[in-house]
Amino acid sequence: RLAPVKRALISVSDKSRLIDQATALHERGVKLVSTGGTHRAIAAAGIPVKDVAELTHFPEMMDGRVKTLHPMVHGGLLGDRDLASHKDAMHTHGILSIDLLIVNLYPFENAVASGGSYEMCVENIDIGGPAMIRAAAKNHAHVAVCTDSDDVDAVLADMDAHDRQTTGTLRQKLAAKTYARSATYDAAIANWFAAQLDETPKYRSQGGTLKQELRYGENPHQTAAFYSDGSNRPGVSTAEQLQGKALSYNNINDTDAAYELVAEFGAVADGAKPAVAIIKHANPCGVAVADDFITAYKNARACDPVSAFGGIVALNGNLDAKTAKEIVKVFTEVVIAPSADEDAVEVFAKKKNLRLLIAGGLPDVNAPSLTQRNVAGGVLVQDRDNGAVAEDDLKVVTKRKPTDAEMADLRMAWKVAKHVKSNAIIYVKDGSTAGIGAGQMSRIDSARIAARKAEDAQEAAGWDAPRTQGCACASDAFFPFADGMLAAASAGATAIIQPGGSIRDEEVIAAADEKDIAMVFTGMRHFRH
Ligand code: 5GP
Repeated sequence: RLAPVKRALISVSDKSRLIDQATALHERGVKLVSTGGTHRAIAAAGIPVKDVAELTHFPEMMDGRVKTLHPMVHGGLLGDRDLASHKDAMHTHGILSIDLLIVNLYPFENAVASGGSYEMCVENIDIGGPAMIRAAAKNHAHVAVCTDSDDVDAVLADMDAHDRQTTGTLRQKLAAKTYARSATYDAAIANWFAAQLDETPKYRSQGGTLKQELRYGENPHQTAAFYSDGSNRPGVSTAEQLQGKALSYNNINDTDAAYELVAEFGAVADGAKPAVAIIKHANPCGVAVADDFITAYKNARACDPVSAFGGIVALNGNLDAKTAKEIVKVFTEVVIAPSADEDAVEVFAKKKNLRLLIAGGLPDVNAPSLTQRNVAGGVLVQDRDNGAVAEDDLKVVTKRKPTDAEMADLRMAWKVAKHVKSNAIIYVKDGSTAGIGAGQMSRIDSARIAARKAEDAQEAAGWDAPRTQGCACASDAFFPFADGMLAAASAGATAIIQPGGSIRDEEVIAAADEKDIAMVFTGMRHFRH
């Protein structure tokens, strides 16, 4: 929807592009209103401009702390032009509508960055600016708001293309940008205060609401807190904790990893087979899919029983008492499931330290969201790895095609691989991981470690052979050389799934053919660093 731009209020601390832009607006017949310093600069350039004091009938006061905080300004920004009652109020009180707001806030971030004194930083907390931009953004049905000078260019272009009016699409975009700006501005203030108080990360999140203050972070000398992002995505942040001590930072991180992994297999409630994942230090040490949970749990645990000690267990369906009894045989930190039978809850009640989390549902593995990581002086942001390979994307590259049984295990191995730190090598046999090699700096090491784990598991269970005999193998990224693939083959793998795309693919395929291995390319990589 188009909205005319008849009057603009300009109040900017960074005046570098002010005169050009005020001129451009004036040329387009827009009436200008402005605050103290901005007004002086525009007037000095010979452009007609009103002082905001003429609107408010109040002088700017208290060193500029109070300039625009007045109904004459906020009424002009907030009044709904389509509502008779709002129009009446504007008319009764002589409030002039403001159609365009150009504000850049007091440079609080610069004041901090340049090492300003406590008083100087406080004085650089803008009050009227954020109030105005938030008001204008709320009323984006009628008002366009610019929080940096590039936005003014966009508005001018929009006006030129639409007979001096702005489009609803642009106003909506500008409103979204405004709230993002006001959030980062307040986050900067909160972070600065936290630093003054030496309460480092507790109040330093980039946003979200504080859910829980944690005793400490990854290590006892690190402070930490848990925030929810408001998305209400089922998972560790929305789950109800039925029993056990408060979750620690590492518990939360590992529980999330476990639950996200098990969600890849779908919900039992939606017809998926029971799946169990056991996580240690954010990597799975066993994953299994079976006809019932107790079998899935036992098979997952058998993959690496040593690591499963003190692990975190996630289920993709309702926890029953039989499975609960099996789980409590091994020291377990956390169990998370969509729901649990009452008698299963009773089994856990005897284990005071075990935390039981009931999440209601599974995390939606396709939900678009972001992951963030800090680097020195910056934040890396990316989309979550929601990648999944469709049946059509799988390409058999060897002479031998995988059998149906191999194919099922390959698919499972690929799902698990996405949740294992790189370099990731996963062996799967009959719906259970047979060995997982995680987080190594070379792919061949991960392949060897996964094989060794399978041998240890064989010894622990007293099997005749390791479960890697005739297993499927997934590699999260391509094999740069044939050696990693051959290491998997000598561990017993007969089928391999990997992205492909190495310059030595031909060599790897030839080596696979020689061993009668069936290999499938996904065309998609799942690095997780
Ligand atoms: P000027 O240089 O025009 O005097 O001031 C511009 C700055 O004042 C802008 O950064 C704007 O966000 C800020 N500002 C506008 N109104 C108010 C107010 O009522 N209180 C405070 N503290 N700042 C304001």
